[in-house]
Amino acid sequence: MSLKGARERTVSTGGVDLCVAELGDPGQPTVVLVHGYPDSKEVWSEVAGRLADRFHVVLYDVRGHGRSTAPRPLRGGFTLAKLTDDFLAVADAVSPGRPVHLVGHDWGSVQSWEFATVARTEGRIASFTSMSGPSLDHFGHWIDARVKRPTPRRVGQLLGQGAKSWYVYLLHTPKLPELAWRGPLGKRWPGILQRVEKAPGGDYPTSSLPSDAANGAWLYRDNVRARLRRPRPDAYAHAPVQLITPQGDAFLSERLYDDLERWVPQLTRRTLPAKHWVPRTRPDQLAAWIEQFVTAVEGNRPAPKTTARHSDRFGGQLVLITGAGSGIGRATAFAFAEAGARVVAVDRDTEAAARTAELSRLIGAPEAWAETADVSDEQAMEKLAERVHREYGVVDVLVNNAGIGLAGSFFTTTPDDWRKVLDVNLWGVIHGCRLFGARMAERGQGGHIVNIASAAAFQPSRTLAAYSTSKAAVLMLSECLRAELAARDIGVTAICPGIVNTNITSTARFTGVDEAEQRRRQKRSARLYGLRNYPPEKVAEAVLTAVTTNKAVVPVTPEAKGSHLLSRYAPRLLRRLARVEPKL
Ligand code: NAP
Repeated sequence: MSLKGARERTVSTGGVDLCVAELGDPGQPTVVLVHGYPDSKEVWSEVAGRLADRFHVVLYDVRGHGRSTAPRPLRGGFTLAKLTDDFLAVADAVSPGRPVHLVGHDWGSVQSWEFATVARTEGRIASFTSMSGPSLDHFGHWIDARVKRPTPRRVGQLLGQGAKSWYVYLLHTPKLPELAWRGPLGKRWPGILQRVEKAPGGDYPTSSLPSDAANGAWLYRDNVRARLRRPRPDAYAHAPVQLITPQGDAFLSERLYDDLERWVPQLTRRTLPAKHWVPRTRPDQLAAWIEQFVTAVEGNRPAPKTTARHSDRFGGQLVLITGAGSGIGRATAFAFAEAGARVVAVDRDTEAAARTAELSRLIGAPEAWAETADVSDEQAMEKLAERVHREYGVVDVLVNNAGIGLAGSFFTTTPDDWRKVLDVNLWGVIHGCRLFGARMAERGQGGHIVNIASAAAFQPSRTLAAYSTSKAAVLMLSECLRAELAARDIGVTAICPGIVNTNITSTARFTGVDEAEQRRRQKRSARLYGLRNYPPEKVAEAVLTAVTTNKAVVPVTPEAKGSHLLSRYAPRLLRRLARVEPKL
């Protein structure tokens, strides 16, 4: 996708000519995308293409960048007041009399904060989505508060951000940035972006990069020091703001936004496991969040709630859960629904899946669908993956949860028993990872795979050979996949629950006993699990936290945590415990 097909015009203001591009129907709400440093409007090409179906999308090269001309002299030509003049001139030209939805990245966001907080733009901005670029005023107050009332934590935050700002000091030096950008840095920049950020070089007009970057140094020199020293006391946003924070931003600390509610009466927070250049690396997610936010503001509806736990991270994401008709799978579907995710509930039981989807919608999922599939059936899973990708999109989080229980000694476990348990517990996970993981990797915008293993994966037992083998395999598969997919920004987690009160006890099979004994044992283990009474909701909470923090292996219940520790530090003790025959 590129800006090809865009309608271009020139807007002249304050002695500069701004190159403005438009996509989509001008009758629709206008979304203005403002680029950062050192970029041009093309940094938005992937996002703009995705928004153009629904909105009138407008992009412009900031003065001195891309195909916009530079002010003369440069010094004093990039003040926030002049950048505000430019924005108003563009907004008046493309959307006369109707407020626009502003979106800014990096310096595009820094200047958009100015637009959204000064009086003369009031009524011209309907909403503002900010990413990786704070208000210099808010930043100034943030520093002030930490200098005036230092605590060890606040000093740490100050030093942390100070270290991330190394490039700002360099950009304040005379001539050095100009020399660097016109020299080797200018040539190598696309390669550096690709390597460090894994951001595609895209269609950045590299020919203008050295002069853009040299001109853009004045964005910093004209504004940063002066504003940080004397931040405006009244920099309150006069439009709803959506803040998107990449968690791996090398230049900005997440802590910078801690006090933001003070400045923004209507704030929606979003977080994203990504680095700085999100318009290039996460266009799907950004376009979805911008669309959701703009649509809510236009419809005069409350912006998506981000007060529920985890909602800043999962709101609007597509999450698929297998075995979602019962127990841990259903609780996980509900937890993602509560966080505002779009949920696909998969189970072999059609009615149970439908019930989970229905309740997910009631709980808070903006959309939820039920799908019937047996995870052990390769062809059924292939069809499921095709349908999901065609109808709902690429999955952001996959939870391979479906599993069955099987207990009994090795010699009473028949080859058929082995096949059944491995087909569901291991092959089900393999199919899920292969079919949904491949699309995730192909999309190149990250994601997460959660495999529900078990404490049985690291805790041997004389009566669980088949089940434990299947779960140990899931654990190792998860570790290997985690290593392979790290380079593609896809996290993989193995969850090892422990004893959890679900239906699994009534459906688990016991080998080598007749039907009556089978039922007696199922009843007894259901009673024991009921007495332990660890709720599946806590496992679901562990799943969401593990995805947010990208954990590799997560034992959940205290006994699972205990045996995980023993398996590492006292494996001989665990082997002894494995010999004890449970009373069933
Ligand atoms: P559950 O209440 O029995 O739920 C499992 C769900 O998966 C059921 O709806 C089940 O449908 C479905 N399912 C089973 N086989 C399937 C297949 N081939 N294709 C599609 N769906 C299938 O059990 P749970 O305790 O929540 O278990 C979820 C996962 O956690 C399993 O992988 C299990 O091994 C693991 N786990 C559970 C515990 C525990 O103590 N509960 C501990 C450690 C690990 P049916 O009802 O039709 O079978």
